[in-house]
Amino acid sequence: MPRTEPIKAVRGVRDILPSEVPRWRAAQTAASEVAERFGYQEIITPILEPAELIERAGEDTDAFAKELYRFADRGDRQLALRPEATAGVLRAYFERNLNQGPQPSRLYLLGPMFRYDRPQKGRYRQFYQLDVEAIGSASPALDVEVIEIATAWLTEVGLGDPRLELNTIGDATCRPAYLEKLRAYYRPLASRLSPDSQRRLEANPLRLLDSKAEEEAPFKAAAPRITDNLCAECAAHWQMVRRLLDAAEIEYELNPYLVRGLDYYTRTVFELFPRGQSGQQDALGGGGRYDGLAQAEGWSATPAVGFASGLDRVTELMAQAGVPVRSSPAADVLVLPDGDLALAAAEVARICRAVRSTAVDYEPKSLRAKMRSANKVGAKWVVLLSAEDAKRRTAQLKDMASGEQEELDWTELPTRLA
Ligand code: AMP
Repeated sequence: MPRTEPIKAVRGVRDILPSEVPRWRAAQTAASEVAERFGYQEIITPILEPAELIERAGEDTDAFAKELYRFADRGDRQLALRPEATAGVLRAYFERNLNQGPQPSRLYLLGPMFRYDRPQKGRYRQFYQLDVEAIGSASPALDVEVIEIATAWLTEVGLGDPRLELNTIGDATCRPAYLEKLRAYYRPLASRLSPDSQRRLEANPLRLLDSKAEEEAPFKAAAPRITDNLCAECAAHWQMVRRLLDAAEIEYELNPYLVRGLDYYTRTVFELFPRGQSGQQDALGGGGRYDGLAQAEGWSATPAVGFASGLDRVTELMAQAGVPVRSSPAADVLVLPDGDLALAAAEVARICRAVRSTAVDYEPKSLRAKMRSANKVGAKWVVLLSAEDAKRRTAQLKDMASGEQEELDWTELPTRLA
């Protein structure tokens, strides 16, 4: 029985059409080139990971749990479609012995991520990220290196001069005492906080700092700052990150409210926005240090830093900004058989393919109609083939730009098209 309704795509996902792919390729090629210029190597990890691996790395929010594509497979294993790349890359680093090689391991990954988010413009349930990780070094130079890669990539794709927001969130030495200060500051204000912030006050007070509730803005402004409460090591790291950014001539804005909610995040956090915009919705990417994640995942303590950036956003902005990308026709050569000449046309196409991308129009249409589609797809040459030509193993080669046409033996086509 034919269905009455055709089957459409899953909600919140999208197709990247051939007309958009040149922009995607340009963004991905630039990502690889920039990352490799800094000595980073590509890693491809599975989309499927154990749910627990992802959940241990997950944000503290309900949203994270609600957004996770989590399911039991047919063998009743608890799996997740990765919502971000870091947990999987870190797992591979230990499990596949990259930790035994030269340190730090400089890795990048391009691929799809999945979040059961509310679909809206620029926010999809399957989206793509460039993920860059430097694992196995505590040096502040690596924090700045990944920031440099992020900004160099955005510049390379024509979205130069992104706005960088920067903060530090300390570490296990200085953060506990700071959090206690923050709680002590907010407790008397509790009744005037939003319900979300009231819940976070005891469990995760750092998150009060990125609360979007307007009525809390004045409280935030007067709240104690972590940058005034760093231990000596975190203060030295923070100072060095800023000196290195200055030396790299990368501008940044200090944002004391930029935080991460989980304990394994340490020291540097940053986010990148298109110039002239701000707010979560518009972020082009973000990252920071996560010196505590390896241990949270059951491996030995290992410092690391990284960032992730969304290709969907970046390519949308490239389109808006009219960044020129080279798009090529589906095929340089189109073979147009006049009538039922599939065998001969296929052979001619095989000959042409030795030097040029070649497609055949096999449809039962008039030659005139076929010429019209050849014009539309932007073929550089057409090879016209009549029954008479096929018999003599000749063809008419037409140069679409000049309109010139000549008769050739099939064997002459490669030299003429090269
Ligand atoms: P996050 O891993 O949440 O820090 O996100 C890093 C970047 O990935 C963001 O700045 C966005 O550019 C992109 N991103 C995150 N979630 C989505 C989504 N649902 N759809 C499209 N892009 C996303």
